[in-house]
This record gives sequence, structure tokens and C-alpha cells, in this order.
Amino acid sequence: MEILYKSTRSENETVTASQAILKGLASDGGLFVPTSIPKLNASIEELAKMDYKETAYTVMKEFFTDFTEEELRNCINRAYDSKFDTEEIAPLVKAEGAYYLELFHGSTIAFKDMALSILPHLLTTSAKKNNVKNEIVILTATSGDTGKAALAGFADVEGTRIVVFYPKGGVSPIQEKQMVTQKGDNTFVVGINGNFDQAQSGVKAIFGDKELEKEMAEAGFQFSSANSINIGRLVPQVVYYVYAYAKLYANGEIADGEKMNVVVPTGNFGNILAAYYAKNMGLPIDKLICASNDNKVLYDFFATGTYDKNREFILTTSPSMDILISSNLERLIYKIAGADSAKNKELMAALATEGKYDITDDMKAELNDFYGNYATEAETAEVIKAIYDATGYVIDTHTAVAASVFNKYSKETGDTNKTVIASTASPFKFTRSVMNAIDAKYDSMGDFELVDELSKIGNVTVPNAIEEIRNANILHDTVCEVEDMQKVVKKFLGMN
Ligand SMILES: *Cc1c(COP(=O)(O)O)cnc(C)c1O
Repeated sequence: MEILYKSTRSENETVTASQAILKGLASDGGLFVPTSIPKLNASIEELAKMDYKETAYTVMKEFFTDFTEEELRNCINRAYDSKFDTEEIAPLVKAEGAYYLELFHGSTIAFKDMALSILPHLLTTSAKKNNVKNEIVILTATSGDTGKAALAGFADVEGTRIVVFYPKGGVSPIQEKQMVTQKGDNTFVVGINGNFDQAQSGVKAIFGDKELEKEMAEAGFQFSSANSINIGRLVPQVVYYVYAYAKLYANGEIADGEKMNVVVPTGNFGNILAAYYAKNMGLPIDKLICASNDNKVLYDFFATGTYDKNREFILTTSPSMDILISSNLERLIYKIAGADSAKNKELMAALATEGKYDITDDMKAELNDFYGNYATEAETAEVIKAIYDATGYVIDTHTAVAASVFNKYSKETGDTNKTVIASTASPFKFTRSVMNAIDAKYDSMGDFELVDELSKIGNVTVPNAIEEIRNANILHDTVCEVEDMQKVVKKFLGMN
């Protein structure tokens, strides 16, 4: 069955999968959603025998129906290869009553690699399919993690260039070093004298500049986005939930059809939405447990039916979840409104003008699949230490938020379903917070000293991503003012 994509905000734009991937965002500002969620077309016995790539093909072919088998398999083969440090790609580790699905074995050791390693290939394939001759220029503003994962994904991918803007002085030293040492002739990393919001607004302004768009087209370029609202990032994330269930079954941990719960440390709501799509495809998932840090706008939403971003923005030790507008939630709102784009549009307009909206009681009743809770900074640190003391397994701060919420959920409900916790980053990415949680004495050590100490106490080798930056050369040193961002992009493209 062919799956088409439509906007969450109107009825008049229907596109193919490859067109949705190319466009990223619908013209009316809405997000692309499949007109129906396809069913998983494989038995558990079949899934249990598949490796990650085969599982990826089985899931993605149902969503990306205008790709040929050869096209899709090519994308998958180029994405899930030796960039990952394990052939399993996403291993499951059992610890303290749950299964940790490690999504951090890619080149930047955070779960964004799961989708950003395939997006460049989906995008270039989509360009070919739609006879786009221009070179695709990816523009991204980053507060740290997305920038590096996008750079790693697009580096040296033919037919693409990538420009990443980050706030100079606004990212961690390790994050900055990861970006400014990025190799690849088609990559360009720029620090701006401003904060993340200014970087983001600057990028949006460049995207919206019609005059520039014309100039770009004449020079043979067009912009695209690697943002997490692209359907080409969402669908690859459905894969690992299917893979995790099949692994539990293959290992004799779960019976055919027995339901599992999943816990997801959540920011932009992309990862947990992928789990919801997996459930809607027919995967036996019971509860979708949404874990937040102190920025608990989603917890409040699930508890009250009111989404309200008017609150203090809190900086936490799980920075990739420090977010007050969870963009991908719009896809869920649209669905629980009964695929009513007018209703969704009304709520999103309220969010834009008043910073809040209320859903109806009927919509709230559709949220029974979800459970929301949050972990404070102290609870996050406590659970890192507790799991380490009990098992020797070291988890990162984001994963710890999920582990803490899992404990709260279990206590509150007595639910004994098998539970998969999405483990979204390697502890090596947030070494200082992780080590401080285990013992305050580590605070006096230097960054790389801490890395070696973590390797020792956790009995894990230092990931390549960290070894690489220890002695890497700085390859990008451009810094610019916010108002010069456009000029800098044109210069990089050789346009002036
Ligand atoms: C991006 C990110 C998250 C949040 O994922 P969403 O899909 O935005 O909800 C959680 N943990 C880590 C480490 C991340 O990088």
C-alpha cells in the first residue's frame, strides 16, 4: 500500500515520502505525517532472526513506499556500517530490572546518530528521485549534540554540504572540540557571537529569504534541514523498538505477543513518538513512559491536559532534554484530535501567541498509552550511583532521568511488564556529571583524566569519538556576528 504524507495543519498538501524528506517542513509550517500508519509485515519468528539492517528494511519499506528496494537497502547499508562500534548497532543490556537499549554506539556517541547516519542518504536519494539537480546545503543551528551528529552524517556525502552554527562559548568544551575538529571538504562549522536562540533565528531567516533562494538556485544550490521534525529522522527511530522487542523474544526474555513498556528520556518528543508509531504498527508495547528532567512541561501536560511553556528555562545536567517546546508533540496532538488539522492548527496558533493550549477531554482520553513523570537533578544523580553500586553499569545523565522515572512508575503502579529503557547517550559524553554522581571526589580531575577514570571504574574502553578529539587538530576557526551569518554561508559556497 502506498503511504503518502500530509501536513498536520491543513488538508491540501499531500506528498510522497521522498518529497516529505526533501521538504522537511510542510509549506504551511505543519509537520508531515503519514496518512495512515502501516502495519508491521513480519512475524516475530522472522524478526527474531533479523540483524539490524534487515529489521531497518522491514520497518522503513512500509513508510517510504516510493523508494525501490535497492534504493532503500543502499541507504541502510551506508548508514549502519563500521561507523558503529558494534555489529549489533543497538545492543540491549539487562541491569536492575530493566533492559537498556544502547542507542549510543554511532560516531558521536548519542542516539541522534541512529537517524542522522541515514538521513543524508535518504535525502540524496530523494533528490535524485525528484530530479533535483542542485547541491543540497544543510543549515543547522545547534546547542551541542545535533550539530556534531549532523556533521558526522553529512561529511563527504556527495551532493551535499553542511553548515553548522553554534553559540561561541555556549556549548561544552568537549562539544565544541567535537565540532571544530570535524573532517570533510563539504563541512563548515561557525561560532557566532550570540546565544543559541540567535543562531536558530539566524538560520530561520536564511531559510525564509526568497531573494537568497533565487541566487542559490542560480548557483546550483538549495537549502534543506536536518532538524528532528524531518520524517526522514523519525521513521529510522521506529526501527530500534522493533529490533529490541525481537531481541527480547530471541533471547527468551519475552513471550510472543507479551507486552513490553518503554521508557524514553524526552526533549523534542521525537524518540518517544517513534515508539508510539511502533506500537501503532502492531508492536506489542503497553505503556509509553515519558521521562522529563526539571523542564517538566510534558509531565504537566500529561497530568493536566494543558501544555504551557510559560515557565523558567532550567539548565540541567541532561542538557539535550532542556527544552520547553517539544516540536514533535504536534504529530501526537494531530492524531489524538482525530486527524483534525483545523483543531491542531488552532492549538499550535495558541502555543505561538500565548505559549499554551488546552486539549479537550476526548483528546485527553486518547493519551492512555502514555505515562509522564520527571526526575530532579538530585534523583538523576542518585540513580546513576545506585545502579553503578549495585551492578557496575554506568549510565549517562539522560538515561538516568529515564531510569529514575521507571522506578517511580514501578512503585506507583506495581506494573511488572518487561521494560526497555532508551539509553540515549554514552556516559563518556557527560563524563563530569556522571562521575560526580558516583563520587564527589572526582570533581577535582581534568576532563580527559575523568575519561580515563570512567573507563577504569566502568570497565569499558574509551569510545573512538572521545579518543579522536583528544589530540585532533582544529579545522574550523570561523567566528562571526549574528548579522553576518548569511554572508558567511555565501562565502563558503563561493557565491561572492
Ligand atoms: C536529543 C536527545 C534526547 C531527547 O530526544 P527527543 O527525541 O528530542 O525527545 C535525549 N537524550 C539525548 C542524549 C539526546 O541527545
